[in-house]
Amino acid sequence: MKNKSVLSMVMLFSLCCGSLWNTGCDNGSPSDASDKTQTVTKIQGKTMGTFYAIKVVGGYKGGEDGLRNLAESCFKEIVDKISTFDKHAELYRLNEHFSTEPYEISDGLSKIIQDTVYIGHRIENATDITVGPLVNLWGFGKDKRLEKAPSDEEVSATLKYVGLDKFELRFDNGKSYLIKSDPQVQIDLATVGEGLGADAVAKKLLFEGYQNFMVNVAGASRSYGVNDKGYKWKVGIEDPTSPAPKVFAPVCTLDKAVATAGSYRNFFKDDTTGKVYSHAIDPKTGYPVSHHTLSVTVIAESAYEADALDTGLLVLGADKALLWGRENNYAVATIELVDGKTVFRYTDTFKPFLDCGAKTN
Ligand code: ADP
Ligand code: MG
Repeated sequence: MKNKSVLSMVMLFSLCCGSLWNTGCDNGSPSDASDKTQTVTKIQGKTMGTFYAIKVVGGYKGGEDGLRNLAESCFKEIVDKISTFDKHAELYRLNEHFSTEPYEISDGLSKIIQDTVYIGHRIENATDITVGPLVNLWGFGKDKRLEKAPSDEEVSATLKYVGLDKFELRFDNGKSYLIKSDPQVQIDLATVGEGLGADAVAKKLLFEGYQNFMVNVAGASRSYGVNDKGYKWKVGIEDPTSPAPKVFAPVCTLDKAVATAGSYRNFFKDDTTGKVYSHAIDPKTGYPVSHHTLSVTVIAESAYEADALDTGLLVLGADKALLWGRENNYAVATIELVDGKTVFRYTDTFKPFLDCGAKTN
Protein backbone atom coordinates (compact mmCIF):
# COMPACT_ATOMS: atom_id res chain seq x y z
CA MET A 1 0.00 0.00 0.00
CA LYS A 2 1.61 3.23 -1.10
CA ASN A 3 1.27 6.52 0.66
CA LYS A 4 -0.25 9.56 -0.97
CA SER A 5 3.08 11.22 -1.61
CA VAL A 6 4.12 8.56 -4.08
CA LEU A 7 0.90 8.79 -5.99
CA SER A 8 2.27 11.15 -8.58
CA MET A 9 5.27 8.94 -9.16
CA VAL A 10 3.10 5.90 -9.55
CA MET A 11 0.77 7.75 -11.90
CA LEU A 12 3.58 8.14 -14.37
CA PHE A 13 3.32 4.42 -14.82
CA SER A 14 -0.39 4.30 -15.18
CA LEU A 15 -0.34 1.12 -17.20
CA CYS A 16 2.23 -0.65 -15.23
CA CYS A 17 0.64 -1.23 -11.83
CA GLY A 18 3.79 -0.94 -9.74
CA SER A 19 6.31 -3.65 -10.30
CA LEU A 20 4.18 -6.09 -12.22
CA TRP A 21 2.57 -5.50 -15.56
CA ASN A 22 -0.73 -7.07 -16.35
CA THR A 23 -0.08 -8.23 -19.89
CA GLY A 24 -2.58 -11.06 -19.81
CA CYS A 25 -4.43 -10.19 -22.99
CA ASP A 26 -1.52 -10.18 -25.37
CA ASN A 27 0.05 -13.45 -24.39
CA GLY A 28 1.41 -14.43 -27.79
CA SER A 29 -0.63 -15.51 -30.79
CA PRO A 30 -2.39 -18.83 -30.62
CA SER A 31 -1.01 -21.07 -33.36
CA ASP A 32 -4.33 -22.87 -33.70
CA ALA A 33 -6.49 -20.89 -36.15
CA SER A 34 -9.65 -22.28 -34.57
CA ASP A 35 -8.88 -20.41 -31.33
CA LYS A 36 -11.48 -17.84 -30.51
CA THR A 37 -10.80 -14.79 -28.44
CA GLN A 38 -13.44 -14.43 -25.75
CA THR A 39 -15.10 -11.28 -24.49
CA VAL A 40 -13.28 -9.71 -21.57
CA THR A 41 -14.48 -7.18 -19.03
CA LYS A 42 -11.47 -5.02 -18.23
CA ILE A 43 -11.18 -2.26 -15.69
CA GLN A 44 -8.42 -0.12 -14.25
CA GLY A 45 -8.57 2.20 -11.31
CA LYS A 46 -6.82 3.56 -8.27
CA THR A 47 -6.75 2.17 -4.78
CA MET A 48 -4.44 2.46 -1.77
CA GLY A 49 -2.56 5.26 -3.53
CA THR A 50 -1.68 3.01 -6.43
CA PHE A 51 -3.25 1.29 -9.43
CA TYR A 52 -5.29 -1.80 -9.96
CA ALA A 53 -6.35 -3.66 -13.11
CA ILE A 54 -8.80 -6.54 -13.46
CA LYS A 55 -9.75 -8.73 -16.42
CA VAL A 56 -12.61 -11.19 -16.38
CA VAL A 57 -12.76 -13.60 -19.32
CA GLY A 58 -16.24 -14.29 -20.67
CA GLY A 59 -17.35 -10.89 -19.38
CA TYR A 60 -18.56 -9.79 -15.95
CA LYS A 61 -22.32 -9.96 -15.50
CA GLY A 62 -22.58 -6.33 -14.33
CA GLY A 63 -20.16 -5.07 -16.98
CA GLU A 64 -17.37 -2.63 -16.15
CA ASP A 65 -19.43 -0.73 -13.59
CA GLY A 66 -20.44 -3.90 -11.77
CA LEU A 67 -16.85 -5.12 -11.69
CA ARG A 68 -15.66 -1.74 -10.44
CA ASN A 69 -18.23 -1.81 -7.64
CA LEU A 70 -17.15 -5.30 -6.64
CA ALA A 71 -13.45 -4.36 -6.62
CA GLU A 72 -13.91 -1.09 -4.81
CA SER A 73 -16.03 -2.60 -2.07
CA CYS A 74 -13.31 -5.23 -1.50
CA PHE A 75 -10.60 -2.56 -1.40
CA LYS A 76 -12.66 -0.39 0.94
CA GLU A 77 -12.96 -3.23 3.44
CA ILE A 78 -9.19 -3.60 3.46
CA VAL A 79 -8.43 0.12 3.64
CA ASP A 80 -10.97 0.48 6.48
CA LYS A 81 -8.96 -2.10 8.40
CA ILE A 82 -5.30 -1.51 7.64
CA SER A 83 -4.75 2.02 6.35
CA THR A 84 -2.23 4.08 8.26
CA PHE A 85 -3.37 7.21 6.37
CA ASP A 86 -7.14 7.13 6.69
CA LYS A 87 -8.23 8.53 10.06
CA HIS A 88 -11.26 6.24 10.14
CA ALA A 89 -9.30 3.04 9.58
CA GLU A 90 -9.02 0.58 12.43
CA LEU A 91 -5.22 0.40 12.22
CA TYR A 92 -4.93 4.20 12.14
CA ARG A 93 -6.91 4.34 15.39
CA LEU A 94 -4.78 1.60 16.94
CA ASN A 95 -1.66 3.57 16.06
CA GLU A 96 -3.17 6.69 17.65
CA HIS A 97 -3.64 4.70 20.86
CA PHE A 98 -0.40 5.88 22.48
CA SER A 99 -0.72 3.64 25.50
CA THR A 100 0.31 0.26 26.84
CA GLU A 101 -3.27 -0.50 27.86
CA PRO A 102 -4.89 -3.36 25.86
CA TYR A 103 -6.64 -2.09 22.73
CA GLU A 104 -9.49 -4.14 21.32
CA ILE A 105 -9.15 -5.04 17.66
CA SER A 106 -11.41 -6.90 15.25
CA ASP A 107 -10.87 -10.57 14.52
CA GLY A 108 -10.07 -9.63 10.91
CA LEU A 109 -7.26 -7.27 11.87
CA SER A 110 -6.00 -9.72 14.49
CA LYS A 111 -5.76 -12.45 11.85
CA ILE A 112 -3.83 -10.26 9.41
CA ILE A 113 -1.42 -9.28 12.17
CA GLN A 114 -0.92 -12.91 13.29
CA ASP A 115 -0.39 -14.16 9.74
CA THR A 116 2.06 -11.40 8.85
CA VAL A 117 4.05 -11.93 12.04
CA TYR A 118 4.17 -15.65 11.23
CA ILE A 119 5.53 -14.94 7.74
CA GLY A 120 8.02 -12.47 9.24
CA HIS A 121 9.30 -15.20 11.58
CA ARG A 122 9.89 -17.47 8.59
CA ILE A 123 12.30 -14.96 7.03
CA GLU A 124 14.42 -13.76 9.95
CA ASN A 125 11.80 -11.15 10.92
CA ALA A 126 12.82 -9.18 7.83
CA THR A 127 9.15 -8.40 7.14
CA ASP A 128 8.39 -6.61 10.37
CA ILE A 129 5.04 -4.91 10.87
CA THR A 130 6.43 -2.69 13.62
CA VAL A 131 8.64 -0.72 11.19
CA GLY A 132 6.07 2.13 11.29
CA PRO A 133 8.16 4.57 13.38
CA LEU A 134 11.13 3.99 11.04
CA VAL A 135 8.88 4.39 7.98
CA ASN A 136 7.83 7.79 9.36
CA LEU A 137 11.38 8.74 10.36
CA TRP A 138 12.59 8.03 6.84
CA GLY A 139 9.75 10.07 5.33
CA PHE A 140 7.69 7.24 3.81
CA GLY A 141 4.82 7.44 6.26
CA LYS A 142 1.95 9.78 6.81
CA ASP A 143 4.28 12.65 7.72
CA LYS A 144 5.98 14.63 5.03
CA ARG A 145 8.78 13.50 2.78
CA LEU A 146 12.38 14.27 3.74
CA GLU A 147 15.13 16.15 2.02
CA LYS A 148 17.81 14.97 4.40
CA ALA A 149 18.41 11.57 5.96
CA PRO A 150 17.84 11.34 9.74
CA SER A 151 20.88 11.17 12.02
CA ASP A 152 22.29 7.89 13.38
CA GLU A 153 21.07 8.97 16.83
CA GLU A 154 17.52 9.44 15.56
CA VAL A 155 17.63 6.02 13.91
CA SER A 156 18.84 4.23 17.05
CA ALA A 157 16.31 6.10 19.23
CA THR A 158 13.49 5.01 16.88
CA LEU A 159 14.73 1.40 16.72
CA LYS A 160 13.70 1.04 20.38
CA TYR A 161 10.08 0.82 19.27
CA VAL A 162 10.68 -1.65 16.47
CA GLY A 163 10.63 -5.43 16.69
CA LEU A 164 8.08 -8.21 16.65
CA ASP A 165 8.56 -8.54 20.42
CA LYS A 166 7.28 -4.99 20.96
CA PHE A 167 3.63 -5.98 21.15
CA GLU A 168 1.49 -8.94 22.03
CA LEU A 169 -1.95 -10.16 21.12
CA ARG A 170 -4.27 -11.31 23.85
CA PHE A 171 -7.53 -13.20 23.42
CA ASP A 172 -10.04 -12.84 26.17
CA ASN A 173 -13.70 -13.79 26.25
CA GLY A 174 -13.88 -14.10 22.47
CA LYS A 175 -12.26 -10.70 21.91
CA SER A 176 -8.81 -9.81 20.54
CA TYR A 177 -6.59 -7.17 22.09
CA LEU A 178 -3.26 -5.71 21.05
CA ILE A 179 -0.92 -4.60 23.82
CA LYS A 180 2.03 -2.36 22.99
CA SER A 181 5.16 -2.65 25.12
CA ASP A 182 5.68 1.10 24.63
CA PRO A 183 3.10 3.75 23.71
CA GLN A 184 5.19 4.70 20.66
CA VAL A 185 4.89 1.26 19.02
CA GLN A 186 3.15 1.44 15.64
CA ILE A 187 1.81 -1.28 13.35
CA ASP A 188 2.35 -0.94 9.59
CA LEU A 189 0.60 -3.39 7.28
CA ALA A 190 1.24 -1.34 4.13
CA THR A 191 3.39 -4.03 2.65
CA VAL A 192 0.52 -6.55 2.46
CA GLY A 193 -2.27 -4.20 1.35
CA GLU A 194 -1.86 -4.93 -2.35
CA GLY A 195 -1.80 -8.69 -1.83
CA LEU A 196 -4.84 -8.60 0.43
CA GLY A 197 -6.65 -6.50 -2.17
CA ALA A 198 -5.88 -8.86 -5.05
CA ASP A 199 -6.94 -11.92 -3.02
CA ALA A 200 -10.16 -10.30 -1.82
CA VAL A 201 -11.31 -9.49 -5.37
CA ALA A 202 -10.26 -12.94 -6.60
CA LYS A 203 -12.17 -14.65 -3.79
CA LYS A 204 -15.31 -12.68 -4.62
CA LEU A 205 -15.06 -13.48 -8.33
CA LEU A 206 -14.59 -17.19 -7.59
CA PHE A 207 -17.59 -17.07 -5.28
CA GLU A 208 -19.63 -15.56 -8.10
CA GLY A 209 -18.63 -18.47 -10.32
CA TYR A 210 -15.94 -16.90 -12.54
CA GLN A 211 -13.07 -19.21 -13.39
CA ASN A 212 -10.81 -17.21 -15.70
CA PHE A 213 -9.62 -13.83 -14.46
CA MET A 214 -6.67 -11.81 -13.37
CA VAL A 215 -6.51 -9.22 -10.59
CA ASN A 216 -3.51 -6.91 -10.28
CA VAL A 217 -3.03 -4.45 -7.45
CA ALA A 218 0.28 -2.68 -8.12
CA GLY A 219 3.02 -5.21 -7.39
CA ALA A 220 0.68 -8.07 -6.48
CA SER A 221 -1.38 -10.22 -8.80
CA ARG A 222 -3.72 -13.17 -8.42
CA SER A 223 -5.04 -15.06 -11.41
CA TYR A 224 -7.24 -18.06 -12.01
CA GLY A 225 -7.67 -20.16 -15.12
CA VAL A 226 -6.57 -18.80 -18.46
CA ASN A 227 -6.79 -15.61 -20.47
CA ASP A 228 -9.17 -14.87 -23.35
CA LYS A 229 -7.02 -16.86 -25.78
CA GLY A 230 -6.79 -19.90 -23.54
CA TYR A 231 -3.23 -19.19 -22.43
CA LYS A 232 -1.79 -18.93 -18.94
CA TRP A 233 -2.02 -15.42 -17.56
CA LYS A 234 1.08 -13.35 -18.06
CA VAL A 235 2.51 -10.56 -15.94
CA GLY A 236 5.76 -8.78 -16.55
CA ILE A 237 8.38 -8.20 -13.92
CA GLU A 238 9.24 -4.56 -14.39
CA ASP A 239 12.69 -3.53 -15.57
CA PRO A 240 14.00 -1.74 -12.48
CA THR A 241 16.58 0.25 -14.43
CA SER A 242 14.36 1.60 -17.17
CA PRO A 243 13.04 5.14 -16.67
CA ALA A 244 10.01 4.25 -18.79
CA PRO A 245 7.83 1.26 -17.95
CA LYS A 246 9.38 -1.79 -19.55
CA VAL A 247 9.01 -5.53 -19.02
CA PHE A 248 12.19 -7.18 -17.80
CA ALA A 249 10.87 -10.76 -17.83
CA PRO A 250 7.43 -12.23 -18.44
CA VAL A 251 5.99 -14.59 -15.86
CA CYS A 252 3.15 -16.96 -16.79
CA THR A 253 1.14 -18.73 -14.17
CA LEU A 254 -1.88 -20.95 -13.73
CA ASP A 255 -3.91 -20.45 -10.54
CA LYS A 256 -1.10 -18.71 -8.71
CA ALA A 257 -0.20 -15.35 -7.20
CA VAL A 258 2.83 -13.25 -8.06
CA ALA A 259 4.21 -10.30 -6.09
CA THR A 260 7.23 -8.11 -6.65
CA ALA A 261 8.87 -5.77 -4.15
CA GLY A 262 11.23 -3.18 -5.50
CA SER A 263 13.71 -0.82 -3.96
CA TYR A 264 13.80 1.42 -7.03
CA ARG A 265 10.48 3.28 -7.38
CA ASN A 266 9.65 4.64 -3.97
CA PHE A 267 12.68 6.38 -2.52
CA PHE A 268 14.06 9.75 -1.60
CA LYS A 269 17.38 11.33 -2.37
CA ASP A 270 19.32 13.17 0.32
CA ASP A 271 19.89 16.59 -1.28
CA THR A 272 23.20 17.06 0.54
CA THR A 273 24.84 13.68 0.07
CA GLY A 274 23.04 12.58 -3.10
CA LYS A 275 22.45 9.19 -1.44
CA VAL A 276 19.24 7.37 -2.36
CA TYR A 277 17.10 5.71 0.32
CA SER A 278 14.49 3.08 -0.54
CA HIS A 279 11.16 2.55 1.23
CA ALA A 280 12.14 -1.02 2.17
CA ILE A 281 13.62 -0.72 5.64
CA ASP A 282 15.82 -3.24 7.40
CA PRO A 283 14.20 -3.58 10.83
CA LYS A 284 17.48 -4.87 12.32
CA THR A 285 19.55 -1.83 11.42
CA GLY A 286 16.82 0.82 11.12
CA TYR A 287 18.19 1.87 7.70
CA PRO A 288 16.62 1.52 4.27
CA VAL A 289 18.13 -1.31 2.28
CA SER A 290 21.30 -0.23 0.52
CA HIS A 291 22.44 -3.45 -1.13
CA HIS A 292 22.28 -4.01 -4.87
CA THR A 293 19.11 -6.07 -4.97
CA LEU A 294 16.62 -4.03 -6.98
CA SER A 295 13.65 -6.35 -6.85
CA VAL A 296 12.42 -9.67 -5.52
CA THR A 297 9.52 -11.59 -7.09
CA VAL A 298 7.73 -14.39 -5.27
CA ILE A 299 5.14 -16.83 -6.60
CA ALA A 300 2.81 -18.29 -4.00
CA GLU A 301 -0.69 -19.63 -3.49
CA SER A 302 -2.02 -16.27 -2.35
CA ALA A 303 -1.12 -12.72 -3.29
CA TYR A 304 -1.13 -11.86 0.41
CA GLU A 305 1.56 -14.44 1.17
CA ALA A 306 3.68 -13.44 -1.84
CA ASP A 307 3.34 -9.78 -0.84
CA ALA A 308 4.27 -10.43 2.80
CA LEU A 309 7.33 -12.38 1.69
CA ASP A 310 8.61 -10.09 -1.06
CA THR A 311 9.43 -7.05 1.08
CA GLY A 312 11.28 -9.11 3.71
CA LEU A 313 13.17 -11.07 1.06
CA LEU A 314 14.13 -7.77 -0.58
CA VAL A 315 15.48 -6.62 2.78
CA LEU A 316 17.50 -9.86 3.09
CA GLY A 317 18.97 -9.36 -0.40
CA ALA A 318 19.20 -11.66 -3.43
CA ASP A 319 21.53 -14.35 -2.02
CA LYS A 320 19.44 -14.98 1.07
CA ALA A 321 16.16 -14.61 -0.79
CA LEU A 322 17.13 -17.28 -3.33
CA LEU A 323 18.49 -19.59 -0.65
CA TRP A 324 15.28 -19.22 1.34
CA GLY A 325 13.23 -19.98 -1.78
CA ARG A 326 15.28 -23.11 -2.47
CA GLU A 327 15.11 -24.37 1.10
CA ASN A 328 11.40 -23.71 1.45
CA ASN A 329 10.28 -24.63 -2.03
CA TYR A 330 9.05 -21.19 -3.10
CA ALA A 331 9.59 -19.82 -6.59
CA VAL A 332 11.73 -16.69 -6.11
CA ALA A 333 13.44 -14.43 -8.66
CA THR A 334 15.73 -11.49 -8.03
CA ILE A 335 17.13 -8.61 -10.08
CA GLU A 336 20.41 -7.09 -8.91
CA LEU A 337 22.59 -4.31 -10.20
CA VAL A 338 26.15 -5.57 -10.46
CA ASP A 339 28.84 -3.36 -12.05
CA GLY A 340 26.13 -1.28 -13.68
CA LYS A 341 24.43 -4.32 -15.23
CA THR A 342 21.25 -6.11 -14.23
CA VAL A 343 21.60 -9.71 -13.11
CA PHE A 344 18.52 -11.90 -13.10
CA ARG A 345 18.60 -15.01 -10.92
CA TYR A 346 15.87 -17.42 -9.90
CA THR A 347 15.25 -20.69 -8.11
CA ASP A 348 14.74 -23.87 -10.16
CA THR A 349 11.08 -23.79 -9.18
CA PHE A 350 10.73 -20.34 -10.79
CA LYS A 351 11.99 -21.48 -14.20
CA PRO A 352 8.74 -23.07 -15.47
CA PHE A 353 6.95 -19.77 -14.89
CA LEU A 354 9.25 -18.06 -17.39
CA ASP A 355 7.90 -20.31 -20.14
CA CYS A 356 5.00 -18.40 -21.64
CA GLY A 357 4.83 -20.27 -24.91
CA ALA A 358 2.78 -23.31 -24.05
CA LYS A 359 -0.95 -23.45 -23.74
CA THR A 360 -2.22 -25.18 -20.67
CA ASN A 361 -4.81 -27.39 -22.28
P1 ADP B 1 6.56 -2.98 -2.64
O1 ADP B 1 5.67 -2.73 -3.84
O2 ADP B 1 7.98 -2.59 -2.87
O3 ADP B 1 6.36 -4.36 -2.04
P2 ADP B 1 4.78 -2.11 -0.66
O4 ADP B 1 3.97 -0.88 -0.88
O5 ADP B 1 4.12 -3.46 -0.81
O6 ADP B 1 6.03 -2.00 -1.58
O7 ADP B 1 5.42 -2.12 0.79
C1 ADP B 1 6.35 -1.12 1.16
C2 ADP B 1 5.88 -0.50 2.46
O8 ADP B 1 6.02 -1.48 3.50
C3 ADP B 1 6.73 0.67 2.89
O9 ADP B 1 6.28 1.87 2.35
C4 ADP B 1 6.58 0.60 4.41
O10 ADP B 1 5.36 1.20 4.82
C5 ADP B 1 6.50 -0.88 4.69
N1 ADP B 1 7.80 -1.50 5.00
C6 ADP B 1 9.06 -1.06 4.72
N2 ADP B 1 9.99 -1.92 5.16
C7 ADP B 1 9.30 -2.95 5.73
C8 ADP B 1 9.70 -4.15 6.38
N3 ADP B 1 10.98 -4.50 6.52
N4 ADP B 1 8.71 -4.96 6.85
C9 ADP B 1 7.41 -4.62 6.71
N5 ADP B 1 6.98 -3.52 6.12
C10 ADP B 1 7.91 -2.68 5.63
MG1 MG C 1 5.21 -6.45 -0.18
